[in-house]
Amino acid sequence: MPSALPAVEYRIRPANPGAHLFHVSCTVRDPDPAGQVFRLPAWIPGSYMIREFARNIVTLRAELDGEPWPVDKLDKHSWRAAPLADGGVLCLHYEVYAWDLSVRAAHLDGTHGFFNGTSVFLAVEGRTDRPCLVDIERPDGAEYRDWKVATALPLAHGVVGAARPYGFGWYRAADYDELIDHPVEMGSFALGHFEAAGTTHDVVLTGRHDCDLERLCKDLQRICEWQIKLFGAPPPMDYYAFLTMVVGDGYGGLEHRASTALLCSRADLPWKGMEGLPDGYKSFLGLCSHEYFHTWNVKRIKPAAFTPYDLTQENYTRLLWAFEGFTSYYDDLALVRSGVITPEDYLGLLGKTVSAVLRGNGRTKQSVAESSFDAWTKYYRQDENAPNAIVSYYTKGALIALALDLQLRAGSDGRISLDDVMRLLWQRHGQTGLGVEEEGIFEAVREVGGKTLGPKLARWLKTTVEGTDDLPLAKLLRGFGIDWQAEPTAAAPSLGIKLAAGNGECRLATVHDGGAAQAAGLSAGDVLIALDGLKLGSGKALDDMLARRQPGDGAEIHAFRRDELMMFSVVLGEPVVDKISLKLAAKASAGALKLRRGWLGRAA
Ligand SMILES: [Zn+2]
Repeated sequence: MPSALPAVEYRIRPANPGAHLFHVSCTVRDPDPAGQVFRLPAWIPGSYMIREFARNIVTLRAELDGEPWPVDKLDKHSWRAAPLADGGVLCLHYEVYAWDLSVRAAHLDGTHGFFNGTSVFLAVEGRTDRPCLVDIERPDGAEYRDWKVATALPLAHGVVGAARPYGFGWYRAADYDELIDHPVEMGSFALGHFEAAGTTHDVVLTGRHDCDLERLCKDLQRICEWQIKLFGAPPPMDYYAFLTMVVGDGYGGLEHRASTALLCSRADLPWKGMEGLPDGYKSFLGLCSHEYFHTWNVKRIKPAAFTPYDLTQENYTRLLWAFEGFTSYYDDLALVRSGVITPEDYLGLLGKTVSAVLRGNGRTKQSVAESSFDAWTKYYRQDENAPNAIVSYYTKGALIALALDLQLRAGSDGRISLDDVMRLLWQRHGQTGLGVEEEGIFEAVREVGGKTLGPKLARWLKTTVEGTDDLPLAKLLRGFGIDWQAEPTAAAPSLGIKLAAGNGECRLATVHDGGAAQAAGLSAGDVLIALDGLKLGSGKALDDMLARRQPGDGAEIHAFRRDELMMFSVVLGEPVVDKISLKLAAKASAGALKLRRGWLGRAA
């Protein structure tokens, strides 16, 4: 190692895949004589919720120079070894239960292993700036002979037993922050490769699938190249991995500095002979694009509140609308600008985002700045009242980015765009490591917009992210030759409810504020049994009956609340206008056409 200080050494062994147990050890060669403290993170960066990963530590013991040494638990995620006046090599041994099939934690069985460092590597207090060495070991048994390792952790060149590419053995990280930012996948996965701007990218697929990897790599290559070009080549990492777990039904992603962990549905992957671009595949590409954009926006351009992260507790920022919202805007935009989808496809996706935002009453009560601040207890811990109480800093944040981009373009005759704001943030913060202060995005907009446009748009942005007004998107899009059509999803009168998915019953997931069901006293969790004395087996039966009635009609609804049968008199409401369709206008002025092509590319 180049550093003069001894590295912290970790070993991780999938010791018992059947019991989902990783055995981990952590060796400290110069422990704190006053009593070395070890601590596991309470949350994982990118997923803003206290998860208390230490609850999965099953057993833990310490050794000093190979002999048992006392260790005490200090709180839910911290331990302290007894003071050691004469020094020595301190080693902690612990077992971690890994059975969370998500991108946020760790998972181990006989088919594969996956872990985030935040779930398995205890931080050594006072030593987190030290280099780290990690020995990733193969499980015992002939059935694991073909297992490989996929991770963006650098190989520990020069160390005895250093891993070879995709191999077990020693890896390294410059410090603890880097160590926990490279998730690790092990198993007999499928592997695809492509180069983007001269940098190797791997696509790793774990689980059963019939994916056309060649096609996937081709599409991802275009998306990645477009994003690299946006910020300026070369990209800030010398290797990148899409670590993908394929399941029957799943969706999720978590960003890291040189990789992403993804969870996807088998049916969303492309297959040999696939025609067109199915919606599921578009959505998977959008997810990959989203996590890749984070390589710049949030992994390197970071809120000051995250520099450094405090992994023991909530880290508050009002800026997630910029880090998640702007990323959500660019994820689909990158698909159309790179030519992977058509402008018509893009407008279809955008229409869905606009509709999703309009469907939540919470947007009239919570600003995206508040939603960001309260992510820990609200966005990440949604209950039945969430649509009435909170706004998504992802979807509304994406629409704010859209409105800002369109205003920058329209106000500068297409010379300035949100791309320039992202590049300024990259140069000023991403490349320097300087965190973005809470007012930093407004300041960047003011600067990029110039004398006339800048102050006006910076003020508009601040008012918008701190307020709850709907965005003037229909008008802005008209200036870009885009038609906006608003209509009800169903022409039938409305009950103002959302049904829970599945199992053939009409269980209310949400009762919308101001709707007919709420006025009649119905609540989330109620199971609707009959409407005007006729059985409601499923949501389809309810839709069919409502379609034959008019707004203002009365109806009797029988429902179970827990095990009690209750009756409610409902007055049906007007159909809700909640479906926005966007189309390229057949007729647009030369000015609008020029702006549209500048925004969506020549095909528009
Ligand atoms: Zn994100």
